[in-house]
Amino acid sequence: MSSPQPSLHGEGPLRDENVADNHVPETRVMETHGTETHVMGTYGPRAFAAVRGAGSYLYDAEGCGYLDFTSGIAVTSLGHCHPKLVAALNAQAQSLWHASNLFDIPGQSDLAAMLCNYSFADKVFFTNSGAEALECAIKTARRYQHHKGCAERYKILTFEGGFHGRTLATIAAAGQAKLIDGFGPMPEGFVQLPLGDVEAVAAAIDAQTAAIIIEPILGEGGIQVVPAAFLSALRALCDTHGLLLIFDEVQCGIARTGHLFAHQAADVMPDIMALAKGLGGGFPIGACLATSGACAGMTPGSHGSTFGGNPLGVAVAKAVLDEVAEPRFLAEVTEKGEVMRAGLAQLASHYPTVIEGIRGTGLMLGLKLKTPNAQFVAAARSAGLLTVPAGDNVVRLLPPLTVSLAEIDEALSALAAALAQIPQP
Ligand code: PLP
Repeated sequence: MSSPQPSLHGEGPLRDENVADNHVPETRVMETHGTETHVMGTYGPRAFAAVRGAGSYLYDAEGCGYLDFTSGIAVTSLGHCHPKLVAALNAQAQSLWHASNLFDIPGQSDLAAMLCNYSFADKVFFTNSGAEALECAIKTARRYQHHKGCAERYKILTFEGGFHGRTLATIAAAGQAKLIDGFGPMPEGFVQLPLGDVEAVAAAIDAQTAAIIIEPILGEGGIQVVPAAFLSALRALCDTHGLLLIFDEVQCGIARTGHLFAHQAADVMPDIMALAKGLGGGFPIGACLATSGACAGMTPGSHGSTFGGNPLGVAVAKAVLDEVAEPRFLAEVTEKGEVMRAGLAQLASHYPTVIEGIRGTGLMLGLKLKTPNAQFVAAARSAGLLTVPAGDNVVRLLPPLTVSLAEIDEALSALAAALAQIPQP
């Protein structure tokens, strides 16, 4: 690993032993990179150019290290460049990069078997992203109804504040104005309902309803943990009315909550589940898991992907699962989550005019703020900590699941420094 350049920004706390000459500057201003870029302008100004990652730290072009509690938005679950993932990727890269699903891809069946053994599912379709996993889930549910002679059942119930990706079907599923504006007409058949309102769900089910999609913990929607009783009520409604229950665990799955899958804490099983993000630990791979019954309509030729289940992604995902599915690893996520939550509670009690509450579970935590979350994210960054804004004026704290207690301590100190910078309302 090449040694990074010293910080150009000034003095700050030592980041880690590998980067002894890297310092976090006392203040960082938001810099806009790539204003002259040919990259399409769908993203806002970038905070800095990320050029290297190591464990829980992300380094900018000047060699300044930041404690990365974004994890690439819940993706780099084992930290940056985890040696086991690097080894798995390198080993696979020596033999086969791509062959397509015309052929049996090395490791695909093994990875599918691992996912099924750890979950409710019997079958897996591999994708490259979360949105594609959701597309597959939606198609699987509609096809299920079609296959059993109920082709009129195409409507899918979803929940306000939910997020399922950026394809046409997934923005229609979420139904939020900010996602769909200017992209119409939307694919038909998605109905958004208030989260937590069982009666509204029951009332919305009609002869055309096929399925219900829900994130067990809303991520983009502001780290809202859906109560187990609500998930259980949805399960019962699905069973009564012949609907499929789809869990979107793209963000909350793969050990982030201290359970391999978030819904396992609620003990409510879906028929279909979408995964991505943490599954590849930074290598793009997603998956749509289903029971045999739920995917009965997904017959040869009904769906496909050129890259889905690519040998490189499969090799890395197997290495990720080998690590994160270990009971000890999961227990440590829970323990570290509790430590972090206790530290956040202390900060909240010192800054009640800024922090309204703490949300989430495991290492998927959020601060519900009274002051603007963008201001908080910038202040945390200037203190050396990277966080992610979310809906409902929340700041997400999504450390790598391998984060150490010392790094959690360091993050809490950075948050204290950030809070001290924020003008009290
Ligand atoms: N579903 C959830 C819950 C997500 O958080 C996301 C992305 O943030 C997606 C789906 C879409 O995933 P991707 O961006 O990989 O398409």
